[in-house]
Amino acid sequence: MSVEPHGSALSRVGVVGGGQLARLLGEADRPGISLTVLAGADEPAVATCDEVVVGDARDETALRTLAERVDVITFDHELVDLDQLARLEDEGVLLRPGPGALRAAVDKSFQRQLFAGAGLPLPRFVVVDSPHDARLTEFLDRVDTTPVVKAARGGYDGRGVVFTTGRDDARAAVERLGGDVVVEEHLALRGEVAQLLVRGADGQVVTYPLVTTVQRDGQCAEVRYPCDTGHEVEAAALAARVAELIGAVGVLAVEFFVTDAGLLINEVALRPHNTGHWTIEGARTSQFTNHLAAATGRPLGPTTPTAAHVVMVNVVGGAEPPPPDWSRPRHHGDVAVHDYAKTWRPGRKLGHVTAWGDDATSTRVRAWREARAAGTAGGEDA
Ligand code: ADP
Repeated sequence: MSVEPHGSALSRVGVVGGGQLARLLGEADRPGISLTVLAGADEPAVATCDEVVVGDARDETALRTLAERVDVITFDHELVDLDQLARLEDEGVLLRPGPGALRAAVDKSFQRQLFAGAGLPLPRFVVVDSPHDARLTEFLDRVDTTPVVKAARGGYDGRGVVFTTGRDDARAAVERLGGDVVVEEHLALRGEVAQLLVRGADGQVVTYPLVTTVQRDGQCAEVRYPCDTGHEVEAAALAARVAELIGAVGVLAVEFFVTDAGLLINEVALRPHNTGHWTIEGARTSQFTNHLAAATGRPLGPTTPTAAHVVMVNVVGGAEPPPPDWSRPRHHGDVAVHDYAKTWRPGRKLGHVTAWGDDATSTRVRAWREARAAGTAGGEDA
């Protein structure tokens, strides 16, 4: 599905960050939209975007250069300086999402406190900046002696997340991570799900179907549509509340823990998200096309799935480098392999595979077969 150019729509988009998401944005169906990426000269998105401003996401001079060349700026990661962005916004630079919304994704402690204040369902938590904080003792007494300790900023793919073994370990983790940390109860999970929605600058919202996500070593390993835990209505309603609360523009991904008591919000991202990569082939409009539509003021495209079952598996480097032809699918027609053109390293995300079809089991088997051929561990049950 392509999003039609619109009368007053903007056409020159700047992307802060040149990682995989910006690379996939560059590959997206985006008629009439040019992309200029603010990135290092050898970052992945340089290959797929139209122009590059070489620089760092937190270099204000580079941000200003980008702003001069484009109509609107969006983001492929959260490692930004919100004060710089607020200054640019004050000067009239159009940022979508804006720094006010981004703060909820950049700073986990802010996010948790904002959401708690709004009555959204969360794990029980406390925010502290010192292992000696009396509130930490009170939390450990009351809630959980083996909590999960999370850095408020800069964590992704499980980095900055510590599963502690006891009170002393929890205190040591708070000390080690430094700054504001979120200490939360260690939940017995029934599963995890992710809700993607896209919100236009005019407040129009489209919602993708809920998906099941499977984590391995703190990293997303697999995403499945349809979701097998239920909770579709609840997840869409909670994500819509979050989007309104923070004033999101573009993709909002909400990751949920599924517990016996229902859904609890784990975290949110305000950019195209790994749990939405399945939409490239699996939905009538991909998350990338819709993110750009929202940023540029175009109407959002339909999010209907293109098949009864869609499975996305991340290709993660195994013990050996993958064979040179790994990204050429062995099976044609209903599987797509995306190669991020990255050098192999064990544990590194090298790409992703999406398979689709009428049958749940064979769709999973096809996706995992391609990922395993590239050295990805897991999926033995597929
Ligand atoms: P990141 O921000 O690096 O993605 P998350 O906070 O999402 O890290 O945690 C990564 C994974 O660790 C989650 O997807 C989940 O599987 C597990 N996890 C995180 N917090 C908890 C918790 N409180 N209880 C149980 N499992 C958790």
